[in-house]
Amino acid sequence: MSFTVAIIGRPNVGKSTLFNRLVGKRIAIVDDQPGVTRDRREGEGRVGDLSFRLFDTAGLEDAENESLEGRMRLQTEAAVSEADAVLFVIDARAGVTPLDDHFARWLRREKQKVILVANKCEGKAGAPGLYEAFGLGLGDPVPLSAEHGEGLGELYDALNEFA
Ligand code: GDP
Ligand code: MG
Repeated sequence: MSFTVAIIGRPNVGKSTLFNRLVGKRIAIVDDQPGVTRDRREGEGRVGDLSFRLFDTAGLEDAENESLEGRMRLQTEAAVSEADAVLFVIDARAGVTPLDDHFARWLRREKQKVILVANKCEGKAGAPGLYEAFGLGLGDPVPLSAEHGEGLGELYDALNEFA
């Protein structure tokens, strides 16, 4: 596991599905810091011959730190600062939402390498959202279907920079 990757994004975009896809059965529960690490999971991710430390996080939310959403946000910020690369996931079927936009703005300010992932791209329903994702200013989105295991070749190419 030569580098560390964090999966982030708003709730329901498919982060945990992607985590499970990349980790398979090699899952470890991380629960040593209640609150901050709530629902954070760590495992060994694999794509092709790449192997890396992978964090799943709860959804990015914009809220005060006292709230559950605020704690999730802290947890996301911690995961981002620990990672060599961030997989920022959007739901291509839902398109780019204001919350995606908000956190894209935050990520652009962070000095952190971001791989933009447009998930739920199987079939044609994800096409408009995929095009919208180019407008986030985080580079070319990687079209993916975490559920169906599609797009892993392009994800490999994006992650290979960090190996
Ligand atoms: P999270 O909240 O970001 O961790 O999202 P989850 O991984 O829990 O997934 C949220 C929902 O999106 C679930 O109903 C998944 O089955 C669904 N989902 C995840 N990946 C895909 C995908 O590639 N395609 C489609 N169509 N649905 C997906
Ligand atoms: Mg999840």
